[in-house]
Amino acid sequence: MSRSITVIGGGIIGASIAWHLTAAGAKVRLVCETPGGIATPNSFAWINASWGNPHDYFKLRMRAIAEWSRLKGEVPELPLSFKGGICWDMPESDLLAYAENHAAWGYDIKRIEAAEISAREPALAVVPDFALHVPAEGVAEPRMTADLLIADARRRGMELDDNVRVTGLRKDEAGRIISITTDHGEWPVEEVVLAAGAATAALAATIGIDVPVETPPGLLVHSRPVAPMINGLVIAPELHLRQTAEGRLVAGTDFGGMDPGTDPDGAAAELFAKVKAFVKNGESLEMEFHTIGYRPTPEDGFPIIGRADGVEGLYLAVTHSGITLAPAIGLFAAREILDGEKEALLAPYRLSRFE
Ligand SMILES: Cc1cc2nc3c(=O)[nH]c(=O)nc-3n(C[C@H](O)[C@H](O)[C@H](O)COP(=O)(O)OP(=O)(O)OC[C@H]3O[C@@H](n4cnc5c(N)ncnc54)[C@H](O)[C@@H]3O)c2cc1C
Repeated sequence: MSRSITVIGGGIIGASIAWHLTAAGAKVRLVCETPGGIATPNSFAWINASWGNPHDYFKLRMRAIAEWSRLKGEVPELPLSFKGGICWDMPESDLLAYAENHAAWGYDIKRIEAAEISAREPALAVVPDFALHVPAEGVAEPRMTADLLIADARRRGMELDDNVRVTGLRKDEAGRIISITTDHGEWPVEEVVLAAGAATAALAATIGIDVPVETPPGLLVHSRPVAPMINGLVIAPELHLRQTAEGRLVAGTDFGGMDPGTDPDGAAAELFAKVKAFVKNGESLEMEFHTIGYRPTPEDGFPIIGRADGVEGLYLAVTHSGITLAPAIGLFAAREILDGEKEALLAPYRLSRFE
């Protein structure tokens, strides 16, 4: 008999885990308030294994980049674009050290000069003397990707209960998960994957599990759609920029977005003015809207993925960089849940490291 698993959360992480469990033959019920997610639609959505991370995390991110291609083969409608990233968002010496270090780790990264930057991104009004080019970096349009994974999983037999607010988890005296409480009543469960983004901590706390997650805000501005002008990802100092599939320029001061402070409208206007100055004919651009997303970020900045010690039948998945990591987390979680396999790449990311 196939295993019956309840996934809580319909953002990119819950959607990917539910898709992989369903594709592997499990009987899956996805329960969420908002299909498509909360942080997910407000994400910059840069898929990368870029600077600033230790080697273990680099390896997980590299694997995730490769897993996006595999998943695209299985769900061809996925809105992915791997047109590469051009990066110069740090002082020259740090940029060169990053290139040297990551090239030694196997990242396909190379220095390009101003002429090549302009050839790759002709719309830029501001071009540095040199930058780094990483052809393997890309984007998954985040909301559409989560929605498509849910839709495809449903075609494969997954059950979806949306507009349902989960209020808590319940376990029996032996420490086994037995039900979830919702605003539609109490539902018995066999196994639960808790992938509720920023709400993971509050829900885990209802059965005494401490999941240390912070939720820093991130502001992004979106232009009205314009004809194609930016080809890939542009990672400049205090301005990270890309163009969406619908033609909107989307930008933040960094890929995580900046803290909007007490005047989000003012901060958005200031950021959009930078976008206008950064591209040729930028004065004709109009801002359509801005978003403030709350990044589900474990206390030490790294993912929390895996079974929760002391509670049987509960698997946790909460992370920043969820757009980059989603296909790998989905695949690994499904294998760990269904086959009892322990994925070596996830070893540093268990909840037990906080004990
Ligand atoms: C501004 C910004 C920029 C970012 N940039 C990048 C980037 O460039 N690259 C990258 O890889 N990552 C980036 N991220 C991070 C990435 O977006 C997140 O890691 C990812 O979206 C998390 O997905 P999730 O599914 O865990 O959470 P969410 O998308 O928040 O989904 C949570 C789900 O849980 C459900 N839920 C929550 N509570 C309950 C409840 N009580 N009952 C029922 N359902 C519930 C919600 O309805 C929703 O379906 C960025 C994030 C932000 C905000």
